[in-house]
Amino acid sequence: MTSGNGFALSRRRFLSCGPAAALAAATPLRAAAAATSPAGEDYYAKLGVQPIINAAGTYTYLTAAVMPPSVRRAVDQAAHHPVRLKDLQKASGEYLARKLRCEAALVSSGASAALTLATAACIAKANGLPPESIPGAVAGHKNEVVVQKAHRYEYDHAMQLCNVAIKQVVSLGDYRAALSDRTVMTNFFNAAEGGEIGREEWLRAAHEHGVPCHLDAAADVPPIENLWKYTGMGFDLVCFSGGKGIRGPQNAGLLLGRKDLIELAALNDNPNSDAVGRGMKVAKEQIVGMVAAVDWLLEQSNESMETEFVRRTTVIQRAVEKVPFVKTRIFTPPIANHVPHLIIDIDSKQLGITPLQVAEQLRNGTPSIELNPATGTDGRGLTETPNSIVLSTWMLEDGEEHTVAARLRAVLTKTRIDRHT
Ligand SMILES: *Cc1c(COP(=O)(O)O)cnc(C)c1O
Repeated sequence: MTSGNGFALSRRRFLSCGPAAALAAATPLRAAAAATSPAGEDYYAKLGVQPIINAAGTYTYLTAAVMPPSVRRAVDQAAHHPVRLKDLQKASGEYLARKLRCEAALVSSGASAALTLATAACIAKANGLPPESIPGAVAGHKNEVVVQKAHRYEYDHAMQLCNVAIKQVVSLGDYRAALSDRTVMTNFFNAAEGGEIGREEWLRAAHEHGVPCHLDAAADVPPIENLWKYTGMGFDLVCFSGGKGIRGPQNAGLLLGRKDLIELAALNDNPNSDAVGRGMKVAKEQIVGMVAAVDWLLEQSNESMETEFVRRTTVIQRAVEKVPFVKTRIFTPPIANHVPHLIIDIDSKQLGITPLQVAEQLRNGTPSIELNPATGTDGRGLTETPNSIVLSTWMLEDGEEHTVAARLRAVLTKTRIDRHT
């Protein structure tokens, strides 16, 4: 029952192991309530929001990863009881630090929030400033963050929330000259495509000046061992997104690293109200979900994940590779989103359809399918020409590869297929 209608299949699976199952096992009162609505209400249907098949990847605008069943059950269990938030923050951090082989850890509301908290921690460390002074009083103190020009990115905003000034460098000489008694931290974008200065040189020069180094590895799992590789290499702080390859809650992330800095990050975080992290709350359910997702991930292997993603990719590749004016290849980006992507290069003139029109047709069909946003572009580290359709299979639910394969083939060959075939 996997061919063609994987969407219905995955939806049933969700219902059979979702919140209702755990609810039914709880108190008699809850069991009675669950009995009147065994599956729980489908609020997507109630709100008229259409679920999608995610052949794009872990993109926030598509709500990124779906949590595995064990994580959903942990989230549901946590929802049953209140706790003292600081107790949960502390215990989850200690547990994660042991599992992820670092000194200390903090569950943040995402990698972006982890970067803000890392910045606040480094400002506090360099200046002895209390949380209520960040960002207001930062300009009058040490406030510089050093970054390679090729590592400037949209998440600079996460640091600028703390009112830091970003000093941009290109060569190692520039870098050494930029490190001064005004420097509070450095940021290294792990998946940057350029940059002259390697990780080891970067760390050595900063540490000679006593400057802590943050590394943004938000999208850089798999491989699993990246969760301890960069702290092991000497980065003082490393952030990961919780809702990408780790498949935890979308509004969770990890800040890993030095104990003194993680303690300062926590001090600048909620529940403290007079702090830059006050609006970056992680609810108890998501803290627990983040821990459960790490537990889930540590039970997986890089090889078994890779085998499954390649199998699904091959299903789609086989369905379209013989279509005239179509060439397919599988490409795995080196660092971020390090999973097989199917690149389908098409001759738009001969086929009479462009990659963007293919994406549009899949989006407007039922079920709605999202392809990778590199489709029809020449960027994002995935394509060199706008003649490519790009998709990845790691965020598909079981069986959805068959739906994507049939729909893509139908669009490329312009045959109409029934949604249930
Ligand atoms: C996705 C991403 C982030 C943000 O992660 P969130 O968990 O969504 O906050 C930050 N940095 C990089 C490099 C990313 O890819």
